[in-house]
Amino acid sequence: MSDHEIQEQFEYFFEDVFFECEEKYGEIEEMCVCDNQCDHLRGNVYIKFRREEDAVKAAEDLNNRWYMFRPIYCDLCPVADFREASCRQFEMGQCGKGGFCNFWHVKPISHHFKNVLARSSRSRYKHRSRSRSRSRDKHSEKHADSKHRRRSRSRSRDRDRRDRRGRY
Ligand SMILES: [Zn+2]
Repeated sequence: MSDHEIQEQFEYFFEDVFFECEEKYGEIEEMCVCDNQCDHLRGNVYIKFRREEDAVKAAEDLNNRWYMFRPIYCDLCPVADFREASCRQFEMGQCGKGGFCNFWHVKPISHHFKNVLARSSRSRYKHRSRSRSRSRDKHSEKHADSKHRRRSRSRSRDRDRRDRRGRY
């Protein structure tokens, strides 16, 4: 696949996840996909919802979903500021640690695609009330990497994934 085709596929994936999550769970402020090579970050998708309760709902629901024949593992993530977690050197094309850096190497999306997302979000939410309480300190993380092993949290994971049937 050419770089162009890879980018196209990536943006298709991004769009798919972004709009489905926004539609089902609530307004998204930011979404990042990690291009790192290390196991604990590779392919991770981080979604910052405007409202904390939407993130909670997404984290619960997405754990019952599959994406492209692979189970989704999802959890709430304590990262409050995506900029802080991201590798600045990578953004400037200068990260000496390559794919094994422990800061997020956020896979960039094209300016055109950014505009599409921004326009869509604005038109979708401009009519909504601004009076709701907003919480910006909890985020939901999800990713479709079945090899990933999560830092364990005391949540039961003994549901049988074979019974899960998502749309994918
Ligand atoms: Zn880096």
